[in-house]
Amino acid sequence: MYARKRLDVGWRDLLSGLLACAGSFDEKGPRERIERGFSSTGSSTSEALACLSVRSGLDLYFEELALPKGSEVLMSALTIPDMWKIVEHHGLVPVPVDLDPRTLAPRIASLEAAASPRTRAVIVAHLFGERFDLEPISRLARARNWRLLEDCAQSWTGDADRGDRTADVSMFSFGPIKTAAALSGGVLVVRDRAVLGRMRARQESWPLQDRRKYFTRTFKYAGLVGLTKRPVYTAFAKGCEIAGKDLDTLIQGSVRGFAGGDFFEKIRHRPCPALLATLARRIESSNAWRVDGRVARAQRLLRLLPEGAVVPGAQNPFHSYWVFTVLVDDPDRVVRELRAAGFDATRAASLRTVPAPAGRPDLEPREAQRILARTVYLPCYPEMPERAIDAMGEALARAVSAGREANRGEVVLTPAPASPGLSPRSRR
Ligand SMILES: *Cc1c(COP(=O)(O)O)cnc(C)c1O
Repeated sequence: MYARKRLDVGWRDLLSGLLACAGSFDEKGPRERIERGFSSTGSSTSEALACLSVRSGLDLYFEELALPKGSEVLMSALTIPDMWKIVEHHGLVPVPVDLDPRTLAPRIASLEAAASPRTRAVIVAHLFGERFDLEPISRLARARNWRLLEDCAQSWTGDADRGDRTADVSMFSFGPIKTAAALSGGVLVVRDRAVLGRMRARQESWPLQDRRKYFTRTFKYAGLVGLTKRPVYTAFAKGCEIAGKDLDTLIQGSVRGFAGGDFFEKIRHRPCPALLATLARRIESSNAWRVDGRVARAQRLLRLLPEGAVVPGAQNPFHSYWVFTVLVDDPDRVVRELRAAGFDATRAASLRTVPAPAGRPDLEPREAQRILARTVYLPCYPEMPERAIDAMGEALARAVSAGREANRGEVVLTPAPASPGLSPRSRR
């Protein structure tokens, strides 16, 4: 069975992470390397802050931005729940903005409809590896004097992308399942120097991440890297079946960060030198083979897609297929049939829809809910040979057409045309 995902971290990275935990060195060197790397060329001072995670950095940002309590923050309706939990923790009101399934961008009309005189900021997320055009949103944000934050946790590809210059904040994650993983860590590019300075000062006052924790974490993920190799995973999936354990519950449970205990106590640490060293190493080394391999397989798969299967974001000029997702009418059937064919497809993911604020049911993000209800994640990564992609495409076509037979009369979205390919956004 092809595992749903392969972690983007190699044995050398893991080993160097473990060794870094044993060494004793200063955090200043690697921190400077990371932050200089994420600042625009020619800038004399750093624009970036390396944190324990994106969530830690977002918490710092809202702490230092100190918006009036009750201010509203418009959010792309699909994201991980911790993101709006952090917004709420700072006394702010997250307001969902519905998405266009073809681009995964929040619609301008929905942004305008969700705005109120209390709106102070907007957070958009580039999902699944795509990047949508930020321009119309930044124009609106500028006109209304909103802070604009872009969540690039899923879209960074290890290239020269440092975020859109028109955003106030661009956020990059190096958590275990992300591209160029360092198993944790986040970088925030914050273009307001005053706010960045205060965030830096506050982070200094946070306790240092325990390097033993980073050590055991590295060890644990080394296990997961081994587990997701095809023969091992096949045995594992079989074992789960025999033992009556749910594969999704086991896997999702094992990759959740900061679970259990007090969430804010956990995220409020500054990264240990070993993590910073690993992070610097991952950012500086090229990751192109992995991203190119991912895109090539995704484009092959796109050509095999049956009618009625929509790939969200495939219409964007940039899609790096961090994950390959497809929207189908009968996701459970598709998962079942793909697994039977040896492909660990899944509906399980950490994305959720941002709930509408109390008393404003008109803001329920219906399209985002519909995307979530219809999404299936397919394994699609460079370790899969082309013939496996072809076999998966055929199995998908069979499952979708069987589903259509069974659900005649259901409304089917029109399929998106194949992606025009990867055209990385240049540094602006
Ligand atoms: C992973 C992820 C985050 C969180 O990143 P951390 O560095 O783990 O805090 C935020 N938003 C999205 C969309 C993500 O996928």
